[in-house]
Amino acid sequence: MTTALQQRDDVVLVVDDDPTLRVLLRAALEKSGFHVEEATDGEEALHKFAECRPAVILMDVEMPKVNGYEACRRIREDAIGAHVPILMVTGLEDIDSINRAYSVGATDFVLKPINWALLGHRIRYVLRASNTYRDLRTSEAKNDALLRAMPDTLLVVRRSGEIVDYFAGSDETTLPVPRGDQGMIFDYLPGEITPKWHALICELLASGKPTHWEFDFERDGKQHYFEMQLVTYLNDLTLCIFRNITERKEAEQRVHRLAFYDMLTGLPNRQLFQQQLGEAIDCAKKNNLKVAALYIDLDNFKRINDTLGHSFGDVVLKTIARRLDRCVRANDSVGRGALDTEGASMHLARLGGDEFVAILHDLEDANDAVLVAERIRSELTRPVEHQGHEFVVSSSIGVSLYPDDGEDIDALLKNADVAMYKAKESGRNSVRFYSGTMSLRSLERLELESGLRHALDREELELHYQPKLCLKTRQIIGVEALIRWEHPEYGNIAPDRFIPLAEECGLITQLGEWVLNTACRQAKKWQDRFGQRISVAVNLSSQQFFQSDVANAVFQALFEASLMPSLLQLELTESILMHDIQETIDTMRQLKDSGIALVMDDFGTGYSSLSYLQRFPLDALKIDRSFVMNLENNQDDAVICSTIISMAHHLGLKVVAEGVETHAQLGFMSDHGCDQIQGYLISKPLPVDELEAFLVSPVNGKFADYG
Ligand code: C2E
Ligand code: MG
Ligand code: MG
Repeated sequence: MTTALQQRDDVVLVVDDDPTLRVLLRAALEKSGFHVEEATDGEEALHKFAECRPAVILMDVEMPKVNGYEACRRIREDAIGAHVPILMVTGLEDIDSINRAYSVGATDFVLKPINWALLGHRIRYVLRASNTYRDLRTSEAKNDALLRAMPDTLLVVRRSGEIVDYFAGSDETTLPVPRGDQGMIFDYLPGEITPKWHALICELLASGKPTHWEFDFERDGKQHYFEMQLVTYLNDLTLCIFRNITERKEAEQRVHRLAFYDMLTGLPNRQLFQQQLGEAIDCAKKNNLKVAALYIDLDNFKRINDTLGHSFGDVVLKTIARRLDRCVRANDSVGRGALDTEGASMHLARLGGDEFVAILHDLEDANDAVLVAERIRSELTRPVEHQGHEFVVSSSIGVSLYPDDGEDIDALLKNADVAMYKAKESGRNSVRFYSGTMSLRSLERLELESGLRHALDREELELHYQPKLCLKTRQIIGVEALIRWEHPEYGNIAPDRFIPLAEECGLITQLGEWVLNTACRQAKKWQDRFGQRISVAVNLSSQQFFQSDVANAVFQALFEASLMPSLLQLELTESILMHDIQETIDTMRQLKDSGIALVMDDFGTGYSSLSYLQRFPLDALKIDRSFVMNLENNQDDAVICSTIISMAHHLGLKVVAEGVETHAQLGFMSDHGCDQIQGYLISKPLPVDELEAFLVSPVNGKFADYG
């Protein structure tokens, strides 16, 4: 059905003021199969055009009212009339009128006298051209709309790389290509495009299929990702379609991060770690090198989490992760020379909770692993600060080596874990290597743990006392209480083994209170017998310090034994710094104010420096046995001992040397002004009756001769 408003392909509008010509034209056109509408002047032509939407208009030039030029111009102004073919029928052959006709938008002209035979063909030809033109316009408009709707940017480029044309997509702003058709594509895209381009073109020509290439570049501190598609176009030309795939890449990266990284610390997770360890093993196998797996566990993390809350725990984990990361980087560059671990590199991961692992690749020497592990350990013991509080988090590190301790991922990890337990057992804050016998030990450990729970009830525990000699007066001035466990099956078990166990299984408070009460009661007996000559020193575990109100337990023990506080000393280890430092200082101050002396035990093995210790209300330092032991052979240790003595004195602290076994060591201590010594040279730790015999025996005076 055809309505008046629809353009009909066969309607010709004849506009002429000459009725004769109109009749002739109608006759000729109808003969050729057209439907004819007529208008007698320009003004009527406009009405008729609007009314019947002709496919072609034949327009006379000279007409009353509105002439042909004017009518043509006005029809062109109409949206629908813009493209309708208008043929001017004119007898004027001069160039001016032809120019004028074209300038008002005429499509062509028909000269008078009209060739009637050809007119129908002529109109058909114009109509066909006009239809083709219309289709072209439609398709161009469509292309144009598509281009504008597309985020992609299009470049028409010669195979040489010369840019011929450019269509901006909505993402054009991020693409570094020109806003126009100029230059070479290499001038705008990242450097790798140059070698890549020719390969892509060859591939495109060979296969005839579109090829593509992904590239990225940084701009305004952000990474942008693009995909370039190459499609053959005309002749020498190719079409490059650039699509911004940044969002897709970022989503992929997010998914990758979720799958392979730990969200809290940003470190690789177990999955990625296992992959990396597997690669490290493969590589080491090929090159005949070693790989070390370091299992790092924070010693007191659970307690931090429990007492200070998870958000603080998170802060600690993030801090630790950052420090570990720094250790890794240091190993990659600066540290390499110093460590001489040439070629070695490191990977880190968080396995969950407070467990971290590191892989050292391509080790030539297993000792390098020790150096790195030690550096990690000491790096981790620097206090963590949070909201004005400071905490020290120590770590236990277990190390296993490929191929020595395991040939595959699982074996290596398991054995590093076992070694880590060994490090914990041996007093924490230390590094241990795996050795084959350790799995047995873990079993034994379980047995010990259950035995320890009964040791108190079964009275298997006892205190021995080791005398301390004052170097100035050469008198025994006190003793240190040292716990002993006589296990019904295993015999005598060293405190170094079961104290850490008691700490781990939560028995330390109970055990510590038993020691305090026993020692205070014993000290009271000696007070009654010897007067105020013999003080008793009790070792406090740092765990005891945090897990209970230790000051209260101490005062209660003193009260129940009716012992003078000045006869009690408490030996603390540097690991008490692992607690909230201000709180520790407060507790220590409370104890000290009551008259109890506080001694820092095993000084030099931990992480505190003398200047750090200044903040704690201490009375004395005990130089660790390991320095005393070697001072005759090792110049460094001798220097350490003398430095500790003089610096401690400078800080107003007394100095006790422990583990003195030889006369030479006693002499050294005496010469350097050390205040007291303790060690096998004087006496081993003794049970009560033997100690009493020692205290009253005349040999007690023999030390007057030494030094
Ligand atoms: P410590 O407090 O540093 O005690 C000194 C350790 O060195 C003692 O080992 C002692 O027997 C040993 N020793 C003393 N003189 C010499 C010497 O000349 N040569 C050598 N080779 N060793 C010497 P012990 O009794 O095995 O105690 C080990 C550690 O266990 C103690 O180190 C202390 O940290 C802890 N400990 C012992 N008893 C208790 C206790 O009742 N409570 C707590 N919390 N810890 C304790
Ligand atoms: Mg001690
Ligand atoms: Mg000690």
